[in-house]
Amino acid sequence: MLNFTVGPVMSGEDVLEVAGHSTPYFRTPEFSDIMFENEKMMLEYLNAPENSRCVFLTTSGTGAMESCVMNILNKNDKVIVINGGSFGHRFVELCELHKLDYTEIKCEFGHQLKAEQLQGLENYTALLVNMHETSSGVLYNMPLISEFCKKNHILLIVDAISAFIAEEIDMEELGAAAVLTGSQKALAVQPGIAVIALAPEALDRIAANEEQCMYLSLKLALDNGRRGQTPFTPAVTILLQINARLHAIEEAGGIAEERRKIAGIAAEFREGIRDLPFENISESCSNAVTALHPLTTGAKEIVRILKDEYQIWVCPNGGELADKVFRVGHIGHITKEDNQKLLDALHDMQNRGIL
Ligand SMILES: *Cc1c(COP(=O)(O)O)cnc(C)c1O
Repeated sequence: MLNFTVGPVMSGEDVLEVAGHSTPYFRTPEFSDIMFENEKMMLEYLNAPENSRCVFLTTSGTGAMESCVMNILNKNDKVIVINGGSFGHRFVELCELHKLDYTEIKCEFGHQLKAEQLQGLENYTALLVNMHETSSGVLYNMPLISEFCKKNHILLIVDAISAFIAEEIDMEELGAAAVLTGSQKALAVQPGIAVIALAPEALDRIAANEEQCMYLSLKLALDNGRRGQTPFTPAVTILLQINARLHAIEEAGGIAEERRKIAGIAAEFREGIRDLPFENISESCSNAVTALHPLTTGAKEIVRILKDEYQIWVCPNGGELADKVFRVGHIGHITKEDNQKLLDALHDMQNRGIL
């Protein structure tokens, strides 16, 4: 199967080689060295400010979102949530569950955030945003958000789960207190590890806040990370896969080169479907995903036929949009030839009268 979903995605050979071995014991100096290296490389790739830290939690991306909400924010905060799809909605649910004082900015599905939507919220203390709203394919205007937060001293937490590697992320320039990602998106290893980079601003809050939980405690993760360890048994092999992947990126020319590769695959795909009856629903596309509304056939049927007849996975949308929108991911180990196979399959479907 060729996998063009938005995660889990296909892994490269270097990662698969690591995944094919038994799990080693991890309370060792050797494993700690790998963890130190993972932390250092992630902070470099994100251009995190001096004295930032990075932790690796054994949980999915949502675990990192919840951990940030519980450990960095508190009852005194007034939180802005940008909500333009299912992942924005998840932050809203988390604020609700953890009884935070919040306001959501609703963005119409597929639409960019506008400056006037931030007006009147200057006295808030924190802002939660999914840099790339994976459900609609919208890449938010991060310079706008960052400038607003800096000007008003608002703590910025960026869910970059699907944006990391696909888009340039400069934590220092954004002034972000925390940036999160997950193992199964553009990191392109198995699901199970969430990564959170924390600037000093977030570290100070974590130290001062009352503990809300144990398993997702950032205090515990940070303390243990000082010796290259985790408080509980982590997804050891995924951490090793992340190490292999970070090294592979380095060896292939660095993170900017990897981003160019993803952008190239995305551009080629978008060019290749211009003659097909699809409408791109995102006003501001990321390199990670193309979200399409098919004009002549239901989205569910397209997803099913690609899977059953062409051995290609693309990503269905959920809820009311299940039959209206499907998404094609451009992250993971996708070659130009793989991309062409997807384009050929779609054109074959058109020739067969399915599209
Ligand atoms: C995938 C994704 C998540 C959730 O990740 P899980 O690993 O499924 O919990 C959160 N935010 C964004 C933007 C994502 O793309």
